[in-house]
Amino acid sequence: MSLPGSPHIAYRGRDLFIEDIALADLARRFGTPLYAYSRAAMLAALAGYQRALAGREHLICYAMKANSNLAVLQTFARAGCGFDIVSGGELERVLAAGGDAAKVVFSGVGKTRAEMARALQAGVACFNVESEGELELLSQVALQLGRTARISLRVNPDVDAKTHPYISTGLKGNKFGVAHETALAVYRRAAALPGIEVAGIDCHIGSQITETGPYLDALDRVLDLVEAVESHGIALQHLDLGGGLGITYTDEQPPDAEALVRAMLARIDARGHGQRKILLEPGRSLVGNAGVLLAEVLYLKPGGSKSFCVVDAAMNDLMRPAMYEAWMGIVPCTQRDEPAQTFDVVGPVCESGDWLGRERHLAVRPGDTLAVLSAGAYGMSMASNYNTRGRAAEVLVSGSEAWMIRERETAAELFRGERLLPG
Ligand SMILES: *Cc1c(COP(=O)(O)O)cnc(C)c1O
Repeated sequence: MSLPGSPHIAYRGRDLFIEDIALADLARRFGTPLYAYSRAAMLAALAGYQRALAGREHLICYAMKANSNLAVLQTFARAGCGFDIVSGGELERVLAAGGDAAKVVFSGVGKTRAEMARALQAGVACFNVESEGELELLSQVALQLGRTARISLRVNPDVDAKTHPYISTGLKGNKFGVAHETALAVYRRAAALPGIEVAGIDCHIGSQITETGPYLDALDRVLDLVEAVESHGIALQHLDLGGGLGITYTDEQPPDAEALVRAMLARIDARGHGQRKILLEPGRSLVGNAGVLLAEVLYLKPGGSKSFCVVDAAMNDLMRPAMYEAWMGIVPCTQRDEPAQTFDVVGPVCESGDWLGRERHLAVRPGDTLAVLSAGAYGMSMASNYNTRGRAAEVLVSGSEAWMIRERETAAELFRGERLLPG
């Protein structure tokens, strides 16, 4: 039986498999909480984008904040991807994973002078500039280093991505990007600055988007700007259309990546912009459905109004439910032939917000392993050490092989760097 999201995570009989390995076996071998990712699922998600872009000058920049494990980055780098980074730390990860700085675009509203300098020295492809202040500082930093910074302006097209307010980024009133009305003036300033070379235009309107319409609306607004900017003699080589494509957590039906990109390319061609290099910045849609979080059931706590299933994974391992009230599937790794009961699935952290799922029908006993589905994106990368809980281990699966790609954190590692007072 296949579950929402990925054919690479499916039941065979009573046991839930990731590729050719039973998840219950992974939990026994590596312990819990454990993140497990399917390499085939990641590459299959990427292939949809690659098919749509074949034959066109393009660069797929994996938005690595979705899942920044070095082995995941290495997988995408080997498949030809560049990276969308949002911090100096992410740049160091790309380099450590063997990624090519010349395929990196640097996004984010708050780049520091030090991050700019490091990215210029490493030779990133493009800075996605989000304000006029950033542009001025970047020009100065580049001049001091005797370099030129290639830039795109991230423009805010003011379209509603129809997603959760916390992950909507392309509306007026968001902190992201340069307002559509002022973008032309900022481009003219950019063209006049000595440390800056204008390379393209960029927009990213939000995350977990499940409709094609907002993408095409944003694209039209961006192409209007391209035409206005070029009419002032400023050439734009590439169009960076951002990321944001949603995945299936429950019953969402987002367009598939290939169809979405083909629709955008058709619009670009129809408006006579077919010669431009295309950049995309997908994050969630490349990794989200490729991963699960495994947790062991510690206790069943029956109650009058509510019963709780207490597991060993918590909000510090997976923030999405607590932070966005996100719904994520929770299923047993081995199905039992018993009547299901209704539980809130909660972790050990001392917060009432520490839940992974509410009112779930489960046939479970203490000692069983549960899988939280579609946890490959914004799972481990948002994990914290709250309650002095070491972060989970991670494994990458390919066929019947499983590689540990991150060790479980120990208590000593958690306070390494802290100091007792003298005396
Ligand atoms: C987060 C982010 C992305 C990726 O978003 P997804 O929803 O994960 O695809 C792309 N570009 C920028 C600038 C981002 O901040």
